[in-house]
Amino acid sequence: MRVLVTGAAGFLGSHLTDRLLGEGHTVLGIDNLSTGNLGNIAHLKSESRFAFEERDICQPFDPGKVDAVYNMASPASPPEYLRLALETLRVGSVGTENTLEIAHKYGAVFLHASTSECYGDPLEHPQTENYWGNVNPVGPRSVYDEAKRYAESLTMAYNRYRGVNTHLVRIFNTYGPRLHPSDGRVISNFVMQALRGEPLTVYGNGQQTRSFCYVADLIEGILRLSRSDEHLPTNIGNPTEFTILECAEAVLEITATVTGKRSELRFEPLPQDDPTRRKPDISKAKKLLGWEPQIGLREGLKLSLDFFQSKV
Ligand code: NAD
Ligand code: UDP
Repeated sequence: MRVLVTGAAGFLGSHLTDRLLGEGHTVLGIDNLSTGNLGNIAHLKSESRFAFEERDICQPFDPGKVDAVYNMASPASPPEYLRLALETLRVGSVGTENTLEIAHKYGAVFLHASTSECYGDPLEHPQTENYWGNVNPVGPRSVYDEAKRYAESLTMAYNRYRGVNTHLVRIFNTYGPRLHPSDGRVISNFVMQALRGEPLTVYGNGQQTRSFCYVADLIEGILRLSRSDEHLPTNIGNPTEFTILECAEAVLEITATVTGKRSELRFEPLPQDDPTRRKPDISKAKKLLGWEPQIGLREGLKLSLDFFQSKV
């Protein structure tokens, strides 16, 4: 297959590209390098089945015949999508429509990277795909949340009205090597702070929860979903829930094995509309795809340590 991956120089896009190349496919990676970087795909320089183009998917483009499109492009960390607010709205709307047009033109399979953020600050716990969410449509996070919700609606419309074979993955917090060391997400912040011997910045009282999925597990789930007959959104994430304080503790435990020290905690204000809790119900993915995550948080942190150490 010839596969188009948008956001290929990002954290998840680069891992997805590696997996697709590993399966023998040819990949065209597209990225505007707004939050990603060429370092994530530097190891593919001499790979003849990989080509890279620096471009913004908000401008229409024709990649030539492709069999599959994985639309991963979008700022993803809260500080980055707040910095790139209008760009985030545009890539979720115009950019997603441009890539859906490509899938339509070439009869390609289409997968869009959606997010647990579609559930907002959820009133149902854990979150099943049938829950419609509790999103502030005009708060600071809305540039991301509403772009992603619009992209889901657009994707379903291309499925229903244009017959495109689409898939929607609702990704829950994912981490691993190549997660940008300074893009502000909790795992990279905590690990880098601990490795540098700085205090870990806990926002609020640290009682809010997240459920962290190791990148290899996530990519496996995404690939299985893209090859299934399911068009409605599907949660892919690790259902083991941690408070942010428990996450800090896990990071301190794992990083202490290399630093021999434990950083302090420093409490900072909670960002506006920061979701109180998040945990995927993955019954659908289990049943439909025979998928469930294999790697727990502490094991995944160990697997990520070399990468973060190289960035200190
Ligand atoms: P990332 O920032 O590392 O990667 C996103 C990539 O998209 C970057 O390389 C960026 O330069 C590129 N990009 C952004 N706008 C673009 C545009 N207009 N044209 C071309 N390229 C553009 O983030 P990530 O964590 O790899 O996230 C990948 C996708 O998965 C995103 O759509 C994100 O919303 C989604 N997601 C990620 C997580 C997670 O925990 N990592 C959770 C939920 C959803
Ligand atoms: N967080 C934190 N300290 C940090 C970065 C994040 O306490 O240095 C918290 C943040 O307030 C949120 C959770 O960790 O409750 C996850 O944040 P992240 O930005 O990784 O992703 P989100 O799930 O909010 O999109």
